[in-house]
Amino acid sequence: RNGVVTPLRKLDRQQRSAVEGRVLADARQISVSFGPLEVVKQVDLSVHKGEVVAIIGPSGSGKSTFLRCFNYLQPPASGTLIIDGQVVVDGGRKPSNTDLLKLRRKIGMCFQSFNLFPHLTAVENVDLAQISALGRSKSDARARSMELLKRVGLEAKAGTKPAHCSGGQQQRIAIARALALDPDMMLMDEPTSALDPELGHEVLAVMRELADSGMTMIIVTHEMRFAENVADRIMFMADGKAVEIGEPRQVLRAPIHERTQQFLSMVF
Ligand code: ADP
Ligand code: MG
Repeated sequence: RNGVVTPLRKLDRQQRSAVEGRVLADARQISVSFGPLEVVKQVDLSVHKGEVVAIIGPSGSGKSTFLRCFNYLQPPASGTLIIDGQVVVDGGRKPSNTDLLKLRRKIGMCFQSFNLFPHLTAVENVDLAQISALGRSKSDARARSMELLKRVGLEAKAGTKPAHCSGGQQQRIAIARALALDPDMMLMDEPTSALDPELGHEVLAVMRELADSGMTMIIVTHEMRFAENVADRIMFMADGKAVEIGEPRQVLRAPIHERTQQFLSMVF
């Protein structure tokens, strides 16, 4: 997708309602169990094109597990998931015509650990899936990789291997790699939590730029200020449930539920 979509938070109410209905990802009543343990409990989340949703909550509350359902890295036990009009999960079952490779090309993901290939340079890491998954020529892939490394501020590191890059640089390479498949949406699972604050900052700046460019994102994060400033909505999860979802100021400054208040009093 090349067209720049204005982020929802920059629209007034009227403009906002005009884009209503352009739901990119619709998760309904998603549940996930590991053995007898239900860790995600009937969670709903609809994400509009260009919207940024931050998921916050205590460790072990099911944030990562829920997030991974969106690209079917985690198959839900029940619920319905529709991505860009395509049914991915219906009543907890994956329709046989669901194309998972296509789905994962549409939905990029970045993890806390960067998972770069250590024997490849930064630019080779970004090239790789463009060639193998999209069938781009080497030269087209390379041109796109350099464009993306420039976008994340790492043109100068193109020929450097991950071990010789800082954690913040490695995460930015991982973001460039995910963007190289031209995803419609990005899932980010605590992309800064393995980083020192000053290195986390440069990754957050890249994420903010992505949000401003109109990228649809679901971001699991402990960075409350970032969530407040960048997200259109914040969802608070606890014990596998979506306890509360709303505009950042409301959820962070005037939470409705006691469980949310309790969590925020410790971290914010
Ligand atoms: P969060 O991201 O909010 O910290 P997770 O989604 O990682 O929470 O985990 C939710 C719960 O599910 C935790 O109790 C965790 O131990 C459990 N869990 C996560 N992944 C697995 C797995 N593959 N097998 C068994 N239990 C798991
Ligand atoms: Mg997690």
